[in-house]
Amino acid sequence: MIQFTKLRLAGFKSFVDATELLIEPGLTGVVGPNGCGKSNLIEALRWVMGETSARQMRGGEMDDVIFGGTSSRPARNLAEVLVGLDNSAGVAPPQYGTAELEVVRRIERGQGSSYRINGRDVRARDVQLLFADSATGARSSGLVSQGRVGALINAKPAERRSLLEEAAGISGLYSRRHEAELR
Ligand code: ATP
Ligand code: MG
Repeated sequence: MIQFTKLRLAGFKSFVDATELLIEPGLTGVVGPNGCGKSNLIEALRWVMGETSARQMRGGEMDDVIFGGTSSRPARNLAEVLVGLDNSAGVAPPQYGTAELEVVRRIERGQGSSYRINGRDVRARDVQLLFADSATGARSSGLVSQGRVGALINAKPAERRSLLEEAAGISGLYSRRHEAELR
């Protein structure tokens, strides 16, 4: 299991100023009044793990995750989210080698996203694969959005199977096989 250690946001949705949160082992609660940005935080986590659907981010296009301005502050053209990971259990692929990992996703208005792991440019796919084996990731069943429980009850058998595969930690294996077959 990969442990999240910190989350840093800048220009992401309502988090216009750089904001860093330390994530301690164990249970973390996020509390605050309506509209203060609790869901935006979870979406930042989902986004940095490689979410590609703007709809999953409650937006029309991916640029909508960039701070869009308020009556008192102008919009930004850049958003960046960093997630720190404790990889001391060695779950991450060996090429990343270190106990501490930092995954960064950045988006520039009209330019799309770029990703880095420990400062090295990587593909979106590399980030998605990093999380796929550890039963985390943008689409993991660990992130339960509103309505998802009902959707699971009504799901087709194939959809339920992919959930079980993910729970068993083998979905990364399938993704890699698919990648290998394409080469
Ligand atoms: P609730 O308790 O109602 O679920 P919440 O704490 O989950 O609220 P969020 O949905 O995370 O709140 O935050 C909503 C706020 O984020 C709104 O004020 C919205 O205007 C703001 N917001 C969302 N996207 C952007 C953006 N791109 N730029 C600026 N503000 C944004
Ligand atoms: Mg919310």
